[in-house]
Amino acid sequence: MFDLILRRANLPDGRKAQDIAIRDGKIAEIAPNIDATAQEEIDATGRLASPPFVDPHFHMDATLSLGLPRMNRSGTLLEGIALWGELRPTLTIDALVSRALRYCDLAVTQGLLAIRTHVDTSDPKLTTVQAMLEVQQKVKPYIDLQLVAFPQDGYFRAPEGVQSLTRALDMGVNIVGGIPHFERTMAEGQASVEALCRLAAERGLPVDMHCDETDDPQSRHVETLAQQTIRHGLQGRVAGSHLTSMHSMDNYYVSKLIPLIAESQMNVIPNPLINIMLQGRHDSYPKRRGMTRVPELMAAGINVSFGHDCVMDPWYAMGSGDMLEVGHMAIHSAQMGSLEDKTKIFNALTINSAKTMGLENYGLAPGCNADLILLQARDPAEALRLKATKLLVIKSGKIIARTAPRIGSLFLDGRPSDIDPAIGFAPDY
Ligand SMILES: [Zn+2]
Repeated sequence: MFDLILRRANLPDGRKAQDIAIRDGKIAEIAPNIDATAQEEIDATGRLASPPFVDPHFHMDATLSLGLPRMNRSGTLLEGIALWGELRPTLTIDALVSRALRYCDLAVTQGLLAIRTHVDTSDPKLTTVQAMLEVQQKVKPYIDLQLVAFPQDGYFRAPEGVQSLTRALDMGVNIVGGIPHFERTMAEGQASVEALCRLAAERGLPVDMHCDETDDPQSRHVETLAQQTIRHGLQGRVAGSHLTSMHSMDNYYVSKLIPLIAESQMNVIPNPLINIMLQGRHDSYPKRRGMTRVPELMAAGINVSFGHDCVMDPWYAMGSGDMLEVGHMAIHSAQMGSLEDKTKIFNALTINSAKTMGLENYGLAPGCNADLILLQARDPAEALRLKATKLLVIKSGKIIARTAPRIGSLFLDGRPSDIDPAIGFAPDY
């Protein structure tokens, strides 16, 4: 007797019509036609069951603040940073918590159950840190929320940047962030990477740095980050976020850089929506896309996972908490359109991101946490193409969100009355 059996589900690895049996909050068995009963049985009818989406790069302290105190007129990263600087003195814990919880509600309905958020530590009052620690506790039953101490205005550049970041770690934030390309000079940026990696090594903490989020082909902080990772023995515990300068770098240099990143076992987190929106802003035409070299990084065996980064904040007026929207943009901006590519992109939103965040017992296998989602699509490629509806979101074996399938009613003589976009349109392959 199981608590729940999800029957006839397709899995992201290509297995079809599998039953997933759940007991005591864990996946107990996955097999075709499990001969057992359960308190609740759900027929997945060949839809795709997946582990939940994981967002390894987000800004929860800024989310849903769009328009406060004004809109970003130029749409650039730098005006976004300036705008956030205007908003920051007016932030209150209550407002930050309220907006973050509201975003988490949306995230859950989108099947997003683990998020790593950068928390701005630039203001010595650390209101953002207090608020996000509170949010972390509040959402713990349903979202695994990791916090990164992020010196938005620069570790060395902000007046009390060094002390504030250290205090955030003392308060319970347990990942070390950075923003070397925003320090005053390239040398100071390099020094910040060195200091922050040393700090992480001393405290036994992971590192996740905004790194080279610029079109400048000479911005080469990721090289330092990889070298410092190796030097301090931080392999596997370091993430480099954005790395957009790699888009513009010299090919010969990149041929040396990618093996170095692989050697350091760095996790790489491009943010396709934001990168395509914010980069290339000083170009006329042709205009650079500004996303890092995703296919090449993946081909080198580097763990690539995609972040949503922003939803309706000073940097980005769009976003919906839907990681399939992020993957959809990744397919286009990285020009990864083959069936195999789409599976890789889907994995980058799930298992790769879980690896980046170091999530335990994540995945669809016996013994894993019974955290899974059911999508209105039959496979990963279709899920990405349709930005599929998340029909069910299951946490520890319990349904915590449900959305009705998207079905259009058609009123045309001689044509079908109901249109399910995930049935009967894509070819069999
Ligand atoms: Zn970011």
